[in-house]
Amino acid sequence: MTRGGVCKDVTESHPKIVSTSKPDPKTNIITKTTENHTISSTHVVYELLECPMCRKLMYPPILQCRNGHTLCSNCKSKVHNCCPMCHCELGNIRCLALEKVAESLDLPCRHKPLGCHEIFPYYSKLNHEVKCRFRPYNCPYAGSKCSVTADVANLVTHLKNDHNVDMHDGCTFNHRYVKSNPHEVENATWMLTVFNCYGRQFCLHFEAFQLGMAPVYISFLRFIGEDSEAKNFSYSLEVGGYGRKLTWQGVPRSIRDSHQVIRDSQDGLIIPRKLALFFSGGNRKELKLRVIGRIWKEQ
Ligand SMILES: [Zn+2]
Ligand SMILES: [Zn+2]
Ligand SMILES: [Zn+2]
Ligand SMILES: [Zn+2]
Repeated sequence: MTRGGVCKDVTESHPKIVSTSKPDPKTNIITKTTENHTISSTHVVYELLECPMCRKLMYPPILQCRNGHTLCSNCKSKVHNCCPMCHCELGNIRCLALEKVAESLDLPCRHKPLGCHEIFPYYSKLNHEVKCRFRPYNCPYAGSKCSVTADVANLVTHLKNDHNVDMHDGCTFNHRYVKSNPHEVENATWMLTVFNCYGRQFCLHFEAFQLGMAPVYISFLRFIGEDSEAKNFSYSLEVGGYGRKLTWQGVPRSIRDSHQVIRDSQDGLIIPRKLALFFSGGNRKELKLRVIGRIWKEQ
């Protein structure tokens, strides 16, 4: 293990320790006194709070072996009561001193590189981070178990490059969905299109699923961003043929909500399969739907 590498990880993955007064221009560490020894000692404390096994910050109960090596409670369950550093029996000794020291630290949110500038007491940091609005988004591409997470710009690039998603500029659209076997409806995800509109991005989903006993299709719009912003937009969808028409007006949902959650809440244009096949005309064995839509900003 190289301590140099460890230090580098600490500074990259976790923003520096801060407190109330001026930042040091070189290290970006803020301490109550600007004396060098104070700065380096906060660094040391920070390193001490990193679990030597998993490299994550430790939270109570922080454990130690009888020789003083510390370990997080998650890792404790994995080491079979044997200290990973000195191999002595681990036991159940808590490191209360370190727990207390942690309590006195104020740390920036770990999503600082993505734009969050909030600072939290050590023990409230985690709570904030799981709901921080700057936390990366999960890939909105449904139907594959894609594990990519990113900010909006990188997510759009990822959808384009890695999922070959169609990108459209403009706030109106006219989309044709063609499927040769419309009877495969078991939660099939067929289409995702991204629209660039008002400088923001929206995903249009089209999926088949079973609503109770009835096979249906659903189409809905998701906003690539936070729900608070999604609420500023509205959209409409329209599908029809042979003098009949179904329309839907809704509010796009944030991609923080998974497409399954939205589908299961039926927050979109729902087209019963029989009607969809009627709209498709022909021999009703093939699905040919034209979905017309518009996105607008609420004043
Ligand atoms: Zn650990
Ligand atoms: Zn030990
Ligand atoms: Zn944050
Ligand atoms: Zn993806």
